[in-house]
Amino acid sequence: MTIKDESKLKGKLLLEKKNVWEVIDEKEKQNLFNLNEDYKSFLDNAKTERKANSEIIKRAKEKGFVDLEDLLTKKEKLAPGSKVFVNNKDKGVALFIIGREDISKGLHIIGSHIDSPRLDLKQLPLYEDTKMAYFKTHYYGGIKKYQWVSMPLALHGVVFKDNGEKVEIEIGENDDEPVLYISDLLPHLAKDQMAKKLGEGITGEGLNVIVGSIPCNDKDINDRIKFNILNILYEKYNITEEDFTSAEIEIVPAGKSRDLGIDRSMVMSYGHDDRVCAFTSLRAILDIEETEKTVAGLFVDKEEIGSVGNTGMTSAFFENAVMDIIYLLKGESNMNLFKKTLANSKVLSADVAAGFDPNYPEAYEKMNSAYMGEGIAIVKYTGSRGKGGCNDANPEFINYVRRIFNNNGIVWQTGELGKVDQGGGGTIAYILARYGMEVLDCGVPVLSMHAPYEVVSKADVYMTYRGYKAFYQAK
Ligand code: MN
Ligand code: MN
Repeated sequence: MTIKDESKLKGKLLLEKKNVWEVIDEKEKQNLFNLNEDYKSFLDNAKTERKANSEIIKRAKEKGFVDLEDLLTKKEKLAPGSKVFVNNKDKGVALFIIGREDISKGLHIIGSHIDSPRLDLKQLPLYEDTKMAYFKTHYYGGIKKYQWVSMPLALHGVVFKDNGEKVEIEIGENDDEPVLYISDLLPHLAKDQMAKKLGEGITGEGLNVIVGSIPCNDKDINDRIKFNILNILYEKYNITEEDFTSAEIEIVPAGKSRDLGIDRSMVMSYGHDDRVCAFTSLRAILDIEETEKTVAGLFVDKEEIGSVGNTGMTSAFFENAVMDIIYLLKGESNMNLFKKTLANSKVLSADVAAGFDPNYPEAYEKMNSAYMGEGIAIVKYTGSRGKGGCNDANPEFINYVRRIFNNNGIVWQTGELGKVDQGGGGTIAYILARYGMEVLDCGVPVLSMHAPYEVVSKADVYMTYRGYKAFYQAK
């Protein structure tokens, strides 16, 4: 073979990595920026799983999705093109579009999670200590505790009062509202703290949120600052200290998502993991009409603490919904049909990937990392050490997805969760795989994952949206 032949083969033999910014034209760039404006407004309306849930249902209803419960009550039949949603306890939701093909041939499912790492209030949170009032917290998900001190915090949640009434509370998001705060030790006095390991400098029980410092007028009351706070909350929300025992209140970074970079190429925000995949898969299913396959968008809670509980992926919520849909399609539902439907299904487990961070190159293996701006990342396996606990997608299915992406001009890349022995993590992928479904992790690369503010590239948000849409539309 001559040198000349080799140069001809160059474009064929070598995998050419693409940068999204370099392959899109001006018109597509405008679509890209527009999509990200919508993403930022989604983020700002979805700072908790409950808020994400209601934002998803609101948008779905606007696009003609109807509540499966209503259809079941009316025993209304489903047909190709029918759009339904299923609400799981206000903390998880599934959207379905019925396809032209028989459902037993399997669904195309994209599953993301809408919970994010944060600080939850304890059941009895409010106390007074040395001229100040505080909330005690218990962190949720894998956080680096030192990142949550000395920054503006907001509070979002629901409280159920003794009369059963539900009260929604939110403090710290509007400019004219106060914020909350966790103090750190001044460097002048931090000799002992600074000598500790990074993971030990701030403790879980040290994440106490400052909520006030004015004592109430009645000098006969103990803990007058605490009482004054209770009084303010009673005035505003009509809630008492006992009501906190039946509440779900989350402390998150205060403020809105922002463009990042002088060129506005990225978005900095709380909760990209995994609301970026929730948003892109949501927009994908809302922007399509009729499909060959029955498609499902799945948005679940509790992924960050192991997908447990009745709002997490290990609950039977999704299976029950599929059973109901089969019933409304066929007038009957049996285990055989149900199992066949699930086993024939294909899933993109839509979760964020670790974006390569040039500031910490030692934690990544350069060749197999996902890069900012190089498109949707396909992650064959997650897990830790020897792939412990992961799904490890079949090459047959990766090939199927890869061909969909290539045929639709989707810029994609591969990714892994850092160096082999450096740590690890997981997603909901393995849970759906139990039914025999083909499952592949596939999503947006993120910098500073699980930090109060995380970073994504607008280019990857856009390509992930397009990739998910192509998967939904595939045959
Ligand atoms: Mn995630
Ligand atoms: Mn996570």
